[in-house]
Amino acid sequence: MKILLTGGAGYVGSACLRLLKESGHQVMAYDNLVEGHAKAVDGADLVVGDIRDTALLEKTLRDNQIEAVMHFAAATNVGESVTNPTYHYDNNIGGTLSLLNAMVAVGVKKILFSSTCATYGLNPSSPMSEDAEQDPCSPYARTKLAVEWMIRDFAHTYGMGFTILRYFNAAGASSDGRFGEYHHPETHLIPLVLQDILQGSNALKVFGDDYPTVDGTCIRDYVHIEDLASAHLLAMEAITEETDEVYNIGTGNGQSVLDIIKACELVSGHQVKYNVVERRPGDAPELVADPRKLKTRLGWKPQYPNIEDTVRSAWMWHKNEPDGYEKK
Ligand code: UDP
Repeated sequence: MKILLTGGAGYVGSACLRLLKESGHQVMAYDNLVEGHAKAVDGADLVVGDIRDTALLEKTLRDNQIEAVMHFAAATNVGESVTNPTYHYDNNIGGTLSLLNAMVAVGVKKILFSSTCATYGLNPSSPMSEDAEQDPCSPYARTKLAVEWMIRDFAHTYGMGFTILRYFNAAGASSDGRFGEYHHPETHLIPLVLQDILQGSNALKVFGDDYPTVDGTCIRDYVHIEDLASAHLLAMEAITEETDEVYNIGTGNGQSVLDIIKACELVSGHQVKYNVVERRPGDAPELVADPRKLKTRLGWKPQYPNIEDTVRSAWMWHKNEPDGYEKK
């Protein structure tokens, strides 16, 4: 299939792009390179453009006879969505509107959307099935929920097939150690802990230890990036112009912030010092997936069910590439 990946140079988008390419699909990344990295597309076609540029999207879709779109491009920093909602609403909602208009104009009828477990937000059920009530608690998560509804509305009116993938916490690096997580500034827990170990900075902050969880810190479901990519491949190969589906992607196991610190200590052999500080606005106490639908309907089999293995792959990446994609 000829597939355009918006945000295809980002952490998750580029992992999917590389796997789709290896699996014989014709892929093309569309990315403004604000958060993405050209090196991450590993030589695949890359159009550098903004998701809000409808004319460039239309031209890209038409000129390359694109049959399906995987939509990753978005502003993703939860904390920033609280301080700068304009940026998030503009990119995520304005950007998706631009993409959907371009798809309608060109007649592209299949879309996979990268949504998030954060749309479940304050819902206390755990693990979370796809029909759990969505109750987002940050502007970022609210933009993702709004986009889910936009895609449904466009799909029903214009006859598109869609699959919404709500992922839990993407983590780890490619098994060959060449591609990993690199954000600037970094805000995610696992890279921050590992960078702290490598730099000996003792600057790690734990955002709150008074949540209603076993050890008081937030619980998340960390799914390996290659397992996330294999779920996208399965979903893409199953999509038709009639598809109307939602899948959670997660391991089904939750780890607290303190569990992650312990896993990083175990894998690296170094102790981590941290300070407990105020809760971070927009954080839900616990988000763990029920991945049974993905397993039974699409036959998904995660290769990294164990958090230590996921952290080990991230540790290899950070140790080998301390400057991430900026290395000369
Ligand atoms: N977290 C933390 N300190 C940090 C970064 C993250 O305690 O410096 C916590 C955060 O509050 C959340 C968990 O780690 O409970 C995972 O955060 P991350 O930003 O990695 O992913 P998110 O769940 O926000 O998508």
